Amino acid sequence: MYLKDLLTQEEGEIKKLFRKFVDNEIMPKRLEIEQDKGLVAKILQDITDLGVLRMGYPKELGGEKSDKTPFYLTILAEEFSRGDAGIAMAVGQASGRHLAPAIIEKNKAILDRFVPIYTGSEFAYSCLSMSEPDGGCDVENFDMKGKTLRTTARLDSDEWVINGSKVWPGSGGVAAMYLTICTTDPNLGEEGIAIIYVPDGTPGLSFGKDEPKMGFRSIQNSSVYYDNVRVPKEYRLAGPGDDAKWFKAACSHTKIHSSGMSLGIAKGAFDTVLEYTKNRMGGGKPVRQHTIVAGILADMAIKLEVSRALTYNTTWMLNNPEIYGPPFSLEMISKCNITKVFTADAAVCITNRGMELMGANGYSPEYSMEKYLRDAKALQLWLAGQQVSKYDIARGYYDLNTV
Ligand SMILES: Cc1cc2nc3c(=O)[nH]c(=O)nc-3n(C[C@H](O)[C@H](O)[C@H](O)COP(=O)(O)OP(=O)(O)OC[C@H]3O[C@@H](n4cnc5c(N)ncnc54)[C@H](O)[C@@H]3O)c2cc1C
Repeated sequence: MYLKDLLTQEEGEIKKLFRKFVDNEIMPKRLEIEQDKGLVAKILQDITDLGVLRMGYPKELGGEKSDKTPFYLTILAEEFSRGDAGIAMAVGQASGRHLAPAIIEKNKAILDRFVPIYTGSEFAYSCLSMSEPDGGCDVENFDMKGKTLRTTARLDSDEWVINGSKVWPGSGGVAAMYLTICTTDPNLGEEGIAIIYVPDGTPGLSFGKDEPKMGFRSIQNSSVYYDNVRVPKEYRLAGPGDDAKWFKAACSHTKIHSSGMSLGIAKGAFDTVLEYTKNRMGGGKPVRQHTIVAGILADMAIKLEVSRALTYNTTWMLNNPEIYGPPFSLEMISKCNITKVFTADAAVCITNRGMELMGANGYSPEYSMEKYLRDAKALQLWLAGQQVSKYDIARGYYDLNTV
C-alpha cells in the first residue's frame, strides 16, 4: 500500500502542514539554527502555536489527540527531521511521548502536575534522563536487568529521595520535566527499576554544561545531577516490575521516533543529491546521467523506500497492541529494533554516499549534506547503539543470554 493511501485525510493534512512549515521556516535558516538557541526557541514556539504539542494528549486532559491520527508522531519525526533533527527530537519529546505511560497507567498525580505544562500555549522541553556515566548501553541492555543503574531512589515517608547522575540527556538543563530512570535497589534487578517524574526547579537537581557535539546542535545535551532530590511518592510511574515493563515500552516507542528521524534525514539528503546531480555537469553531461552514479542513486532510493515502509509498518504494529502484542513483548521490541537499526544505517549510508556525489560542495555547510551526515551519525550511537540493539533483535527469534 502507498503511504498516501495508508494515511487518513487528517494525517495527510498534518503532513502537508509540517512540510510547509519546514520549507518556509526551517530550511532557509538551517545554518543559523545550529548556532542560535534563541532562534530554535522561536521556531519551537511557532510550532507550538500550530497546536502540535496538544495533538499528543487526549481531549479529557486538555489535548487534541484523535484516533484518526495514529501516525502523527512518526509523521512529525520524519517531516521535521528533513529540516532539523534536533527540532524534531524536541517537539516529539514534548508531544506526549514521555507522558504516554502515565496516561495509560492513569497516574493522576503525574498527569495533574505535568500535562498542563505541555498542553498550554508555551513550548516546554521534556527530558528522558537515562544514560549513565559508567555506560549508556548497560542501562538499555535488558539482559543487565537494571543491575548496573547507579542512580537510586529511596523512599523516605511519602517522598522519593533520588541520588545519582546522568550524561547526555537531550534537553537536559532546559526541560520542565525529567523522566528519570533509576533503581530502588540494583540487587532487585527488574523489580528495582523505577521511572520517576521530576519537575524542574526541585532542590538538589542541577545540570552540567551544554555538551559540544558533531550534530544535533539545535538541542542542548547536558548532564543531570541528583543530590537528595525529593519528589512525592506518587511521581513514580507504576511500581515494582511494572516500571521495568514501561521502560521497555518507552525504548520501543523512542526507537520508532528515532526511525522517523532517520527517514526524514535520509529523505532530505536524497532530495538534495538528486537535485544537485541534475544540474552539476561532469564528463560533458549531468552527473546523474552516468550509469555508475545512477546505480548509487538507485541504492539510496532502495534504502529510503524500505526505511519508510518499515517505519510506518512498525508504527502501525505499535498502535495495534491487541493484534501484535504490547510494546514490551520480545516480538515488538525486536521489530522496533530492526526498524531503528536498519533506518539509522540507511540514513548514514545515504548521507555519506550523497556527500560523495556532491564532491567538495557536499562537504560545505552551504548545501546541508554535511549537516545531514553529522545528524545521522548520532542515530546509530544513541539508544544503546547498534550492537546492543541487535541483541534485542535476536531475542525476538531465540533465547539469547549475553551476560
Ligand atoms: C545526540 C545524542 C543525544 C542523546 N540523547 C539522550 C537522551 O535524550 N537521554 C539519554 O538518557 N541519553 C541520551 N544520549 C546518550 C545515548 O543514549 C548513549 O550515548 C548510548 O546509549 C550509548 O551509551 P554510551 O555512549 O555510554 O556507550 P557505551 O555504553 O560506553 O558503549 C560503547 C561501545 O561499546 C559497545 N557495547 C556496550 N555494551 C556492549 C555489550 N554488552 N555487547 C557488545 N557491545 C557493547 C557499544 O555498542 C558501543 O559501541 C544521547 C546521545 C547522543 C549522542
